[in-house]
Amino acid sequence: MPDATITALRRRIDELNTQLLGLLQERAGIVLDIANLKQSHGIDGYDPKREEEMLHRLVAEAHGPFGPAQVSEIFKAIFRVSLDIQDHDRQQKLRVRRRDLVPPGGLRVGKAVFGGDRPILIAGPCSVESAGQMERIAAGLAKIPAVKLLRGGAFKPRTNPYSFQGLREEGLKLLQAAGRRHGLTTVTEVLDTSTLDLVAEYSDMLQVGSRNMYNTELLKAIGRTRKPVLLKRGFMATLEEFMLAAEYILAEGNDNVVLCERGIRTFERWTRNTLDISAVPLLKQETSLPVIVDLSHALGRSDILAPCARAALAAGADGLMIEVHDQPDQALSDGFQQIDLDAFAKFVRETGMQA
Ligand code: PEP
Ligand code: MN
Repeated sequence: MPDATITALRRRIDELNTQLLGLLQERAGIVLDIANLKQSHGIDGYDPKREEEMLHRLVAEAHGPFGPAQVSEIFKAIFRVSLDIQDHDRQQKLRVRRRDLVPPGGLRVGKAVFGGDRPILIAGPCSVESAGQMERIAAGLAKIPAVKLLRGGAFKPRTNPYSFQGLREEGLKLLQAAGRRHGLTTVTEVLDTSTLDLVAEYSDMLQVGSRNMYNTELLKAIGRTRKPVLLKRGFMATLEEFMLAAEYILAEGNDNVVLCERGIRTFERWTRNTLDISAVPLLKQETSLPVIVDLSHALGRSDILAPCARAALAAGADGLMIEVHDQPDQALSDGFQQIDLDAFAKFVRETGMQA
């Protein structure tokens, strides 16, 4: 075949490719328009029945060199990538991805500024146990300027129903009193919607625990308050699921959310969970919300806190949470991972967080 003919035919192929691409792009634009219209009417985007009908008709019209099998293959690929762009488009529109959620200078919660000019420390016992315990711990922590928030569980999500479940309202009162006496802002876990108002009344910040990250009714209810929230990553949650949990709170109008990486469950047994350091830069890349790291629950041990803290800070963490107890070996929960006040002061020096 003469070269000139091949060249002409190839030119025609090039033209057809360009036309096909133009048609595909036009089609993709319409797909997104339909998806947006559906979303604004609260209708689910994917319609498998409609897809099946389109495919059926196209296959019936497959009379050229491409037979039914090839036509089916080509259009299934077009349908699949169309779904991908709809998904991508939806993801990009999430509130949690907005860059303007945190006020300039950081998110202020009482004395604490998350995402300000320096990382902060949240410290305190796993559980609030008694007035004396809270007084001793809060007094010790208040001497360290980087400690801005006092933590302590009053409602405890324990694995074993026979383990200490927390002092409930009494615990909330003790945490609040100790925080006030020593000028520390407080954070404590809220376990369910029925105790939300109570916890919100006593605590400056609400914590959603790892086991509750998927509790969408609780997330929505917290979203309807304007209380600052420390949202912990579920121990089996992907980062996308974690971001969507935050979206539940934001979507109800509460943008005061701090994300907390606290380790995920893997096959590794030398640590309680596996600290996912990559979560810190990834969450900061994908969202503008402050990100902190709870080292105590991630590691479940106290001997490697300092190097892991340095890693978290190097990765960009806006703060760290550490469980501190005046007598860890007497603690009613998580004694094995808590450190005493002297060890905490040493930790603060070792990580350069004195200020
Ligand atoms: C806690 O911080 O008290 C706690 C129970 O942690 P997590 O939800 O991360 O297990
Ligand atoms: Mn604990």
